Parts: sequence; C-alpha cells; structure tokens
Amino acid sequence: MSRWRVVGLGLALALSGASASAQTIYPLNRAEILAGTRFDLKVEFPGSPAQSAVKVTINGEDAATVTGKAVSFVEREDGADHSAYWIRDVAIAKPGKYTIEATAGDKSARVAWEVFDTNGGKKAKNVILFIGDGMSVAHRTAARILSKGLVEGRYGGELAIDDMPHMALVSTSGSDSVVTDSANSASAYTTGHKTCVNAMGVYCSRSKSNLDHPKVETISELVKRSRGMSVGVVTNTEIEDATPGAMVAHNRLRADYNNIVKDFFAVQPDVMLGGGTPNFLPKSTSGSKRVDEDDYLQKFRDAGYTYVQTNTELKAAKGTKKLLGLFNAANIDGALDRFFLKKGSVSKFPDQPDLTDQVRAALDVLSQNEKGFVLMVESGRIDKYSHSLDWERAVYDTIMLDNAVKVAKEFAATRDDTLIIVVADHAHGVAIVGTYDDDRGGPMRNRLGTYAQSPFPNYPAPNADGYPDKIDVSRRLAFVFSAYPDNCSAGRPFLEGENVPAVEGETKGNYIANEKNCALPGAVRQVGNLPFNVNTGVHAADDVVLTAMGPGAEQFHGRIDNTRVFRAIVTALGITLAPSN
Ligand SMILES: [Zn+2]
Repeated sequence: MSRWRVVGLGLALALSGASASAQTIYPLNRAEILAGTRFDLKVEFPGSPAQSAVKVTINGEDAATVTGKAVSFVEREDGADHSAYWIRDVAIAKPGKYTIEATAGDKSARVAWEVFDTNGGKKAKNVILFIGDGMSVAHRTAARILSKGLVEGRYGGELAIDDMPHMALVSTSGSDSVVTDSANSASAYTTGHKTCVNAMGVYCSRSKSNLDHPKVETISELVKRSRGMSVGVVTNTEIEDATPGAMVAHNRLRADYNNIVKDFFAVQPDVMLGGGTPNFLPKSTSGSKRVDEDDYLQKFRDAGYTYVQTNTELKAAKGTKKLLGLFNAANIDGALDRFFLKKGSVSKFPDQPDLTDQVRAALDVLSQNEKGFVLMVESGRIDKYSHSLDWERAVYDTIMLDNAVKVAKEFAATRDDTLIIVVADHAHGVAIVGTYDDDRGGPMRNRLGTYAQSPFPNYPAPNADGYPDKIDVSRRLAFVFSAYPDNCSAGRPFLEGENVPAVEGETKGNYIANEKNCALPGAVRQVGNLPFNVNTGVHAADDVVLTAMGPGAEQFHGRIDNTRVFRAIVTALGITLAPSN
C-alpha cells in the first residue's frame, strides 16, 4: 500500500514507497478540520522505540498538553512492526495553521493541518444533500434526452438537477488511490476528511481491527450535538451500504454491515429509509445476517421509532417524529423495474416506495424540528446498474433522482432557509457515442450511427414523472462503457432483469462473457480490458458535477476537492462548537 509521506511542509506531495521507515501521522497532511470537531490523533512509529524516546508536538508544544488528553502508547501494535501513539477524542478549538511533529531518535515527520471555523455566519437552517451514486455526465445527458426530449439539438426542458444557479466540478480521489469507492468518497462529504477505499469516518492506519482506526466526527454527530438538529438518511440501496453508512459509521471496512447498524443506533438519525433488513434481525431469526442476537428493529422501536416496511405504511406514518423504514431485504428495485418491467424483486416486494415518496416522508419528519436538519438522499443504483453495464436502469434512476430533487425544491420554495446540493460521489467510465438505428439493418455494429449518422432517438414522450414508458425502441442511445470484463453487448435494453455481463469461467475467480447475452440477435463480443478477476464495470476518476441552490450555495464554483462539500455545508449552517469541547 502506498501512502503519502510528508518530508517537509514545503514538500507536501512527496510520494513515498518506503513509508515503513517514517512515522505516519493521522490526520494526514493538509487535513482540513472544523474547529472543535472531535478526532483521534495517531502516530505510528516504525519498530519499537521506548515511549520516553518519542515526542509528538502541536505547534512546538507537547500534544498531550495542548489537547489536555492522555496518551496511550502501544508497543508493536497488534504484534506488527510499528508502535502506536494515540490521543483519542481530541478537538482543537482555535482556528489556524497547525504543525504536528513526531520524533523518535533522529527520525521525525511533520504534517500541517488547517483548523477552520465558519465565522458563525448562519445562512441556512436546513441542508439536503443529494448523491447520485456513480452519476457521471453521460447519465445526466441521457436522463435529459429521455425525460425532456431532444429535437434539432435543443432540449424540451431542464432537469431539476441541472436547473440550479451554482455549479462546481468535484474531484473525488481518496487518500490512497486515484479511483475512489463510495465509502471514502461519501465519507469526504460527511466528515471533510479524505480517506482510503472501503473506509468511512476513519483514517486508514495500520491497526488490524477495522474498528480501531483514527476516527473523525461525522456531520450527523456534529449537528446533533452542537445544535440539536435532526438528521435523515434516505437511500434506495441497503441502508448499511457505503453512502448511507458514511453518515454515521467509523469503520475501515464498508462491508461490516453489522457494526454499521450499531453505529446507526448509536447516532440515531431521526429518519432512516432504505433496504437491508437482514442486518437488523437477531441471528436466530430466519433471514438474519447478524452474528449476534441483537434485535435492532426492537431496539429502534424501544427508542421511539415508527418502523415501516411498505410504501403504504410509509405514507401512513405521517406526523411521526422518528422513522425507520426498511423496504427490501436487499436494495430497493430501480424505477425501470418498479414502474414498467416488473423484474428484479418487484413481485416479492410489490409495495416499495419511490425515492420521491421517501423524500416526502423524510421532510415531513425532519421539518418538525425548529433547529433544522441535515438530510442525505442517495439514488444509489445509478452506480450499481452502471457496474452491471445496464445503462437504461441507471438512467431511469437518474430521472428518479431528478424527481426527488423536484420534491426538495418544492419544499425549499416555500421558505428561504434550505441549501440543496446535488452531486455524485464518483464517476463511471461512460459516454454517449451515437444512436443505434434498427432502420439501418444488418449487424448491430452497422446499426450504430456516429456523428451525422446519429439521429435523435425515438423514445416515446415521457409520462408525467419524466419516464418514457417504452425503452426498447428502434432508435436508441448508444451509451457505452469504457472499462468492462469480457461480455457481449446487443445494443438493446435488458428487459428480463438487470444485466449480468460476466460469469465465472472454468478457472476459479476468472470471469468470462455471459453467453446468454452472446446469444442475443446481433450481439457483439467485447474482449474485456479489466483484470480477469473483475466481473463488472468499474468507477472512474473523472471529476463529477455538483449543482446547488439556496443559502450557502454560492460557495460552490470552479474545481473543488470533495472535502470542500462538507466545509460548505458546515459553513452554510454556521456550525460553531464550544471551545470546551
Ligand atoms: Zn460502485
């Protein structure tokens, strides 16, 4: 694993392949820390220096004295070749530049942190953060074509996600790699710190336990303790998945669903809506995925939550103050399946809510709090369907996101205190390169027209919700993926259920094209360009688009790092924390 090593404040970008020889300080160099927020300071010293031989200072003064907290020093932590210096749960009240220096013998390392404040200027009472997971520019363009129409190069209208006065490009790379995943990218939005792939609410240190890495406070913890604000987490994925999980969790491993549920219970967001029931059920209950007998449905009920499992129950819960809704054992089905094709798990879960229903219910609960709220809403299967090279499903869920944003805009229009942000957490390698036109005849490759041979598609006019009711038309978008396993593409939508592009071949762990797709008329066999053990498309490092409106939205312009989204949110809310921590 490569790490950023700091050899001096002026050389912040020294990339070290020999990091084992230097101390590593967490938070990492160039961390931006909101004054008063809680975090763990950890320094890893190579080998096993005596505690008396190590020194950690903040702006030249002993770190324990500055933070007023005890140091715990763990020689050869977890039996590994490093010793760990921890000061847990610290806070720095005074804004400014801080230099942290760690010394053992003749070896020393330094990092710089910026502790910022929000100048107490409260502009917004509420923040609604929409995350289109994996939503790239091509998803937005395709959603606009399908739901607004495109004639003579002009659109028939604007998407709600586009029609906002402020826009920025957001860079999404994590602390360890160019291409991020949804855990660390969402964590950047919810904590203001970058971290590594699969991690949320923690820096990735060398600790063995996924629960014992240097923690940083989440927006949920922050606004609840500092302001008594309400928090909502709404998704159409499993509620324990990376993006919703990052609202509450401190975990090195996004797959640790059981502990993420535990973190949800510890933080108690006022609204939690999504899929993913099995990790709430005690081990002895059929369908449970827990390893213990903790019954989280009961715990939440005992804590005063109304628990709902269907859209009908969700609508009937109007007026409740705390709401937990789990509508599917796994992810909630996408819009194309729920509204039109009735595939996926629709027959098993016939009464799942749409994201718009979830947002309406969340706003009903959250807006009861006079102190305001932070609501995160994820359209999460834009990403998942893009992994399965199933662009139609991804784009219908982009339109669903647009409808959900419309609901938020209607809420905000009646007041002047709500910041709305729409952003993706990372991109996929996707593009629209032309149209498939069946009138051209011949093999599918010859039906693909580019440039002057790419006529406008003939999807039917959309219904009132912006969805064309037929996706399998004779002139279709050629929406392509740049990175894929071996697969077959017929240039047509997958009407029988979500695409499975590749399946395990004779060599265990190696993936080959799904021959079912290769048998489709006109299918083109694509030799994969990803490693053989990858069975789906992958994320891209391309910047993503952010749009915003409402008080505080003017902070978004130009190109920003994903950590700046957190900073803009707390600044819009004017969050200040008491110096006493
Ligand atoms: Zn993904």
